[in-house]
Amino acid sequence: MAILTIVKHPAEILEKECKQVTQFDKNLKQLLKDMYETMVAADGVGLAAPQIGVDQQIAVVDIGDERGRINLINPIIIEKSGEQTDIEGCLSFPRLYGTVSRPYYVKVQAQNMKGKTFIIEAEDYLARAIQHEIDHLHGVLFTSKVLKYIDEEELEGYEEQ
Ligand SMILES: [Zn+2]
Repeated sequence: MAILTIVKHPAEILEKECKQVTQFDKNLKQLLKDMYETMVAADGVGLAAPQIGVDQQIAVVDIGDERGRINLINPIIIEKSGEQTDIEGCLSFPRLYGTVSRPYYVKVQAQNMKGKTFIIEAEDYLARAIQHEIDHLHGVLFTSKVLKYIDEEELEGYEEQ
């Protein structure tokens, strides 16, 4: 078990296009495990590899629903529809929150830790979390999409991604 250090903005790694994963080995499995533990320890619902200083297209998401932990490797959004606007935060921007509009539904193609391709469909909050993490893999930060920043007192209980 290892809790990794979360990279805070500003940092170059947070604003670059991450590399595709090509090696599906035990190092990747360990990295996913460490990322998940780091995310849980930080009370987050998602974490992307650049947030722990790793330049690779890897993210973990767990919004605490029945789907549990979702590992996303080389994810691509292949379909999206609708719209939702809600408050977001980010583990790389402590104590910063703002409203962001995103598609309500996404269909994502990704690989699992063994390199097997799968499709995941998500709506609402899970779709938001997945899109937030995929953005990280392309150097896109939620601050570039914030419509309005929110004061900390207004948001008791929002989790960071
Ligand atoms: Zn984030």
